[in-house]
Parts: sequence; structure tokens; C-alpha cells
Amino acid sequence: MNLKEKMQRRLKLSRPSLRARARPPKHRTALGAQFTAANLPTALALQHCKHCGHTQYPPAELCSICLEDQLIYQPADGSGVILARTELHHSLWEYFKRRLRQGSWPVCSIALDSGPVVIAHLGSDHLNAGDPVRVFSHTDASQQAVLIAVNATVDISSPEARRGIVSAMNLDIPAIKEDGL
Ligand SMILES: [Zn+2]
Repeated sequence: MNLKEKMQRRLKLSRPSLRARARPPKHRTALGAQFTAANLPTALALQHCKHCGHTQYPPAELCSICLEDQLIYQPADGSGVILARTELHHSLWEYFKRRLRQGSWPVCSIALDSGPVVIAHLGSDHLNAGDPVRVFSHTDASQQAVLIAVNATVDISSPEARRGIVSAMNLDIPAIKEDGL
């Protein structure tokens, strides 16, 4: 590796704004990594307490109701209702900075019928508080599970349908800078 390549590599590490490809945050706790792994084969899997039957999100080491530690991931119904919707207009993360140049990024909190409240990227337009939605998980461009909410009428039954929604949101590809490092 010559000096120029070394300097470019260092710049790429220290200046995310110069990167050719910016990706969403990839760092997760051990529990977050477990959530990603559990959600790979299914539309949505949530932690379920074997002792009291409570379904919880975000993942934790103990059940938030009975404090037992026997938690397993089970496929969950993603049906729910939007509690609140907001739009991201500013971010310190390079991936979102680039995405936000094309428009604001909608995010919402959802009360799932199965109990927990989740925060998700909003994949359908014109949805507001009180509207029924479906939530599913999908890997983003950093190969980590993120939650996506779409109109309850949208078909999310097949992996292809879910992949199509994620692709339409450009969540599965890095944000490109043409002359980046
Ligand atoms: Zn429990």
C-alpha cells in the first residue's frame, strides 16, 4: 500500500462524508444482534416469555413483567396502529444526511396488537396517528434488522414482497457519493 492509499484509507475512516458508500448504523448490542439473527427467517419475530406469555420489545435479558429469564423468539403478528408519526429532517449520520437531501424521512411509533410499542421506518405515504399498519423486519444496507411499517392493506406475506418495499425505500443499498473514496 503506497502513501496515497494509506492517506485515503485514513480519511475514509475519519471522515464519513468522503466515503463513496455510506451505510446505516451497523452497531448493535449482543441483544440487538440476537434480534437480527432471530428475524432473518421470518417477517417478524419478537421475544416471548415462556413463564408468563408476555411479548416484549425492545429485546431484554429479563421479562419486564415477571423478571424470568426464559425468553424465546417467536413469530409475531405485525398488525398494529400508529400512535404518532414524525419526520426526520436532520441527522448527524452520513447515510441519513444523504438520504435527507431527497426529502424528509418518516418514522412512526406503533402499538402492536400483540402488546409492545415499536418504532419503525414508515414505508407507505399518507399514514397518520390512528391508521392501521403492518410491521415487519428486514435487513438494511448494513445487514442489521430494522422495522418497517406499511399500510395494513399492503401484502407483506412473501419475502419477495417485503424485499420490494425495502428496495423502494432504498434501505437495502448504501447512499452513494459519486466522487467519494
Ligand atoms: Zn414473563
